[in-house]
Amino acid sequence: MRAIRVQAFGAPDVLVVDEVPKPEPLAGQVRVKLQAAGVNPVETYIRSGQYANLPLLPWTPGNDGAGIVDALGEGVGGMALGDRVYVAGSLTGTYAEFCVCEAQHVHPLPECVSFAQGAAMGVPYATAYRALFQRARARAGETVLVHGGSGGVGVAAIQLARAAGMKVIATAGSEQGRALVLQHGATQVFDHRDPQRWEAIRDTTHGHGVDVVVEMRADANLGNDLTILARGGRVVIVGSRGTVEVNPRDCMAREAEILGLLLWQMSAADYRAVHAALVAGLEAGTLTPVIARELPLDQAALAHRQVLEPGALGKIVLRM
Ligand code: NAP
Repeated sequence: MRAIRVQAFGAPDVLVVDEVPKPEPLAGQVRVKLQAAGVNPVETYIRSGQYANLPLLPWTPGNDGAGIVDALGEGVGGMALGDRVYVAGSLTGTYAEFCVCEAQHVHPLPECVSFAQGAAMGVPYATAYRALFQRARARAGETVLVHGGSGGVGVAAIQLARAAGMKVIATAGSEQGRALVLQHGATQVFDHRDPQRWEAIRDTTHGHGVDVVVEMRADANLGNDLTILARGGRVVIVGSRGTVEVNPRDCMAREAEILGLLLWQMSAADYRAVHAALVAGLEAGTLTPVIARELPLDQAALAHRQVLEPGALGKIVLRM
């Protein structure tokens, strides 16, 4: 089969297609014939060698994908050969024509959802769900600011928050990104490059403040996030690219909480809850992943460059 094989950590060009044997599922595992793989920023950090936990080389990247069940290991029930599925977690990597996963990381993909959309579920939707419900304990009627609403996690957070009855404010750095977030459930949108936005965001809450911030760039925004929170407000740090200065008094005055999130820290029970909710959302039609771009597998290097560029419009996926 064709798969991306990284032989040494480095620039995007280390992502080259190779011919490798098809992986075989052991007991409790499933082989999926992939149609699409999701490209996440974390795979660029790992590929560059700048990540705390590096895999052994050679390495096939990819946590997320969607396709068809191709082989079942001993003892696997609840799915059959030919089933449409998305995967959120893979033992062999999803930038490949086939991957092997633990059976609990393979989830049904409704007919109405494309394979490209299925490949957007794993990291982005699970992160957004965990941020809103498992970390921030967001509730219907609350106001949520999705700070960085135009990317994979952002669009997911907007759709999840709206479906759960929250008022959603979102930001994007481009005109097209701002149109996209409005289309997916935000009722107010701001430019996260505009230094005047803080006052305007506070005004849209009529002085109450924002109950929950889902933050994609804490290094740029955390200090100011604390100044627009409501009493008892929560900021969930999803993404950060450096350090930031905060005034602890902004937190004290509101009895606010700053919450970290790392998807890989999720317990098995939380993982099950997340994907039960996500599958239900796909079936009900409240979750509709947005695909910005589809690239062939042999353009993985280009996908890695694009996923870090400004002007996000949903998800970048690789097609097999
Ligand atoms: P993505 O699709 O590349 O989107 C990045 C988003 O960040 C875009 O909406 C972008 O908006 C926005 N952004 C850029 N500058 C910003 C700023 N100054 N303030 C607010 N937002 C800004 O990436 P993603 O998959 O959504 O992931 C988002 C971040 O979360 C990444 O840093 C990723 O590594 C991290 N993440 C962490 C976890 C975890 O476990 N903690 C899990 C998933 C993702 P424009 O392009 O419109 O400017």
